[in-house]
Amino acid sequence: MGTCSENRKSIPALFGSSVFNDDVMQERLPKDVYKSLRKTIDEGKDLDLAVANAVATAMKDWAVEQGATHYTHWFQPLNGITAEKHDSFISPTSDGRVIMQFSGKELVKGEPDASSFPSGGLRATFEARGYTAWDPTSYAFVKGGSLYIPTAFCSYSGEVLDKKTPLLRSMEGLSRQAVRILRLLGDDKVKQVVTTVGPEQEYFLVDKALFDKRADLRFCGRTLFGAQAPKGQELEDHYYGAIKPRVQAFMKELDEELWKLGILAKTKHNEVAPAQHELAPIFSTTNIATDHNQLAMEVMKNVAARHGLACLLHEKPFAGVNGSGKHNNWSLSTDTGKNLLDPGKRPEENLVFLLLLAAVIKGVDEYQDLLRISVASAGNDHRLGAHEAPPSIISMFLGDELTAILEAIEENRPYGGTQSKKLDTGVRVLPDLNMDTTDRNRTSPFAFTGNKFEFRSLGSAISIACPNIMLNTIVAEELRQFAEVLESASGLEATVLALVRQAVKEHKRIIFNGDGYSQEWLEEAQRRGLLNLPTTVDALPRYLDQKNIDLFSRHKIYTEAEMEARYETIMEEYVKTLKIEALTMSGMARREILPAVSAYTQSLASAITAKRAAISGLPCQAETALLEGLSGLMDQAFGQVEALDRTLLDPRASSPNVLTAASYYKDRVIPAMEALRASVDKMEGDVSAGYWPFPTYADLMFRV
Ligand code: ADP
Ligand code: MG
Repeated sequence: MGTCSENRKSIPALFGSSVFNDDVMQERLPKDVYKSLRKTIDEGKDLDLAVANAVATAMKDWAVEQGATHYTHWFQPLNGITAEKHDSFISPTSDGRVIMQFSGKELVKGEPDASSFPSGGLRATFEARGYTAWDPTSYAFVKGGSLYIPTAFCSYSGEVLDKKTPLLRSMEGLSRQAVRILRLLGDDKVKQVVTTVGPEQEYFLVDKALFDKRADLRFCGRTLFGAQAPKGQELEDHYYGAIKPRVQAFMKELDEELWKLGILAKTKHNEVAPAQHELAPIFSTTNIATDHNQLAMEVMKNVAARHGLACLLHEKPFAGVNGSGKHNNWSLSTDTGKNLLDPGKRPEENLVFLLLLAAVIKGVDEYQDLLRISVASAGNDHRLGAHEAPPSIISMFLGDELTAILEAIEENRPYGGTQSKKLDTGVRVLPDLNMDTTDRNRTSPFAFTGNKFEFRSLGSAISIACPNIMLNTIVAEELRQFAEVLESASGLEATVLALVRQAVKEHKRIIFNGDGYSQEWLEEAQRRGLLNLPTTVDALPRYLDQKNIDLFSRHKIYTEAEMEARYETIMEEYVKTLKIEALTMSGMARREILPAVSAYTQSLASAITAKRAAISGLPCQAETALLEGLSGLMDQAFGQVEALDRTLLDPRASSPNVLTAASYYKDRVIPAMEALRASVDKMEGDVSAGYWPFPTYADLMFRV
């Protein structure tokens, strides 16, 4: 089967063709086995070994037909990427042949040597045992000759070592509290409430041959040097611009690869920065959306390589133009398919909606720190607050209509209603459009967008697991508090309105409908007492505040030890990322940039000597000025590399206390890197193009 014949498949036939999904299960599993498995998937019932064996055999037969020879438990360790170890299906027979075998045991439980995954000190390396456990709610799939089985990952002593387990726990926790509330408000049918997520993914594409020439892109995923090109994004001609044929070919193949894996790739377009693009899927249940986003990021890189391109998922690959984010569109939906954040025609009368809205407002205000922490990384520190992405201050946008409704409730007066407006285009042949009751706001970190919240602070490279764990748990906690009040109250409607009123009164400081990029907001937010945590190092220590430990232990998401481990892991990752960047910078400066500038200045010096030998007394003003300027900058840059290297040798840089080390990198190493970059970028402007050792911003952003 080549790509040709696959391409001729209709899209519905192509969609999910590499996935062991419900259709395949129904077709291939004996009826009773299918029923038991569904019970496990839908209700969390234990799976017995006989059923697991039957499922494993069917899965293996199907996978082998799809060309698979191996299987792997696929999991999401704390480093934010995915992990896989492949075992073949082969099993020797007594007569020296092999057969293809896969048992229920192998499907359900794996035992990777876990010693080299980050555990934040939860395990010493000699206690290497870790287990992976099949997550039957996320379908297995075939990719690159292997059967992938989505799993959760934990240690021998039961500590959670991955991002999926707490995510599943947070979804169950939120479901419990939301069902409790719905029951109290008279819904006796709902059994489960799931959170849904649609993550919009931004990325850059650059030519692979150019990418390969830059050590910073290869090691760090971002440029550490680079003078601005004459053109950036100021004309805004890339946003929604016509997609170039090479990028279009990439996007077409990407869509097809994602569809095969059952990923609902929907929207694609050019983004604001040159060479920047976006992909958005149709939303799905949060844990599936998380698996799919991890897969999508990986497939993007692989497909890009097949088109001679490199896909950059870093949050800030280039200075001077926008970085890349990931918008986490989040909502709640019942098992009967109702979106609970849909306000309906008369939100002022929709008690469920109002109560949920109040829970989100109260939760976002009380746990601003957690939301900020959930998006913290060395890469994302470059974006937040840089007037291109939401600020590092968390606030909420609700729009005019909801704000007016909440004000009316707060002041205990009836709400006058919102006039639905028609958009008159003034052109007869165009239809009149019904207008939404609120405009959009692109500058808010957390915006209500009609029937969902859009959390916009995520960086493009991050796993969406953590932000959703935080969101789900925060809202579960607020709903728990509301449920306790409602359970002991009489007069349901009045109590709901009283709860909403109180939440608005106490937490309206978190609502801000204006321009989040403005200096005025910074000052206003400070007056309101909102947190402003500009960097990872500022934000992260608050993770271990008692109120946060209480939150996660109450909802059984993390133990205190697991939280400490996560804190250590994120801080360590911050330090390691910056160390790699600093070393890469130093290496590029010493081994490529300084020698190039030296060679060029030498050619200038020779030119001056040669010219004066030919015509004595020739002024050679240009060469002399360049030679002087570049020699001065080169000396300066050399001093800065030496200084940068010295910072890395400081004992604080390798302190076993992660906060000490991270603070040192933030306060000392980053400024040393910035100083070196400034000198180098200046030199780039004056060194002959032929001498410059690697592709420039103009090459990288304008040559696809
Ligand atoms: P934008 O204009 O911000 O690009 P879209 O309306 O295209 O937004 O939707 C963005 C994302 O929101 C899509 O991935 C979409 O599937 C997702 N989305 C829509 N409804 C929901 C929902 N109820 N829950 C979660 N995500 C949703
Ligand atoms: Mg959006």
